[in-house]
Amino acid sequence: MSHIYPKTLQLHIDGEWIDIEDRDVHHVVNPSTGKVISDLPKASKADLDRALDAAARAFPMWRDTAVGVRAAILHKAADLMRERATDIGRLITAEQGKPVGQAAGEVTASAAHFDIMAEEAKRCYGRVLVRPAGQNSFVKYQPVGPVAAFSPWNFPVFTPIRKLAPAIAAGCSIILKPAEETPSSAIEMIRCLVDAGLPSGVAQVVFGDPAEVSSHLIASDVIRKVSFTGSVPVGKHLMKLAAEGMKRTTMELGGHAPVLVFDDCDLEKTLDLTAMQKFRNAGQVCVSPTRFYVQSGIYDRFVEGFTQRAAKVAVGDGFSDGVEMGPLANPRRPSSVGDMIHDAKSKGAEVKLGGNRQDKDGFFFDPTVLSHVPLDANIMNDEPFGPVAVMRPFGRLDEAIEQANRLPLGLAAYAFTSNLHKANIVGDTVEAGMVAINNLTVSPGDAPFGGVKESGHGSEDGPDGLKAYMVTKAIHQA
Ligand code: NAD
Repeated sequence: MSHIYPKTLQLHIDGEWIDIEDRDVHHVVNPSTGKVISDLPKASKADLDRALDAAARAFPMWRDTAVGVRAAILHKAADLMRERATDIGRLITAEQGKPVGQAAGEVTASAAHFDIMAEEAKRCYGRVLVRPAGQNSFVKYQPVGPVAAFSPWNFPVFTPIRKLAPAIAAGCSIILKPAEETPSSAIEMIRCLVDAGLPSGVAQVVFGDPAEVSSHLIASDVIRKVSFTGSVPVGKHLMKLAAEGMKRTTMELGGHAPVLVFDDCDLEKTLDLTAMQKFRNAGQVCVSPTRFYVQSGIYDRFVEGFTQRAAKVAVGDGFSDGVEMGPLANPRRPSSVGDMIHDAKSKGAEVKLGGNRQDKDGFFFDPTVLSHVPLDANIMNDEPFGPVAVMRPFGRLDEAIEQANRLPLGLAAYAFTSNLHKANIVGDTVEAGMVAINNLTVSPGDAPFGGVKESGHGSEDGPDGLKAYMVTKAIHQA
């Protein structure tokens, strides 16, 4: 789809679009073909310093801009994203692989985050404390300062907008480094902000060697907040860098979501929902339903029903009609997922469906179902981040909860039951930032999104997501 994808891309710093010129280049690859489709400039140290300088200069101006003006620009940018959703979606498909309909849907859903944060910012009220006559104590929320934000390739628009929207709404300036693998759609999101009237210097977008960019930006005194979505090891590394300057962090890291399926659930509905959601974005979703713990009485029926549905998932180039699942996003994924499946088989797991990289160009992988997966299989412990459902039977409620909580991760968790008591116990005792019962929706935009344990800390979205870009100040007048 090279005809819709720009042959060269740009950085955006201090209001200026910057070409490759003499900069190093990253080659962007279409995961459906494995072919290079574009060249992306990598920011030099001088570019990063320019971005830091611009963010530092823009911050006081933007902080002191009336919240209504900030909100109006965000609403306008949201409108532009909706108008351009089809085109931006096609860029996502070309660089990331997901089907065009899902890609355009990602853009539309993301646009709502500009709207939500625009309205949250207007209502970010402080407090007036009870004091004797003539005295006043106030609590106020103020923007934290310039932000360095790092977003991954699985949702090239949805992950960065969860950082851009609250930062800009709160009155911060921001330097965003999206994944080099999926740059173009994030660039177009920045273009929507620029076209909506965002002043120069408030939002920059840079690319480069991730470790070099993050260490340079986070070491700068300009940056007051670091936000990252990605893997646990990289999150820990960035937290150590941030600790040097006592900088605030939001870390949205990996998950390994348990799905507790009780024998009193609506089986057909549970199968329809979970089998569809598992293969969305080829399973490259931090909240993807992955570890299926199914009560013994319905285990065989569940595995069979899930496998039948998974076998019907249409895999192919995201631009082709009827395709439901595209390729994996980069060459690391098929080999990582393949290794995990091989390990699970060698330890006794039954392969009910798939299990292999597909024999064609690009990074396609079979929708895969593994049953009776032993607990010591790597895939039961490390996030597969691919189109694989792993299943095990359980007997009692307490066993299911023990299994759900056995990993050091805790992002999303799911349960399917018609029993209110079980639903309440699961909601209260499963260690996860988000628990969905009888549905799989955990990122509606107005609710906190984030993990516990090694899945990270800090919430994105909703009022909590806005406050993540603000500091609390008490003012006492006597
Ligand atoms: P990775 O761990 O190297 O990278 C993860 C993300 O972090 C990428 O976007 C990458 O560009 C970025 N990154 C890497 N090193 C960085 C650094 N020093 N500074 C700043 N950013 C850096 O590996 P990967 O192969 O891209 O992904 C592997 C695993 O990461 C996946 O299997 C999954 O577990 C996790 N992941 C999670 C999410 C999520 O939404 N939470 C998204 C993508 C990947």
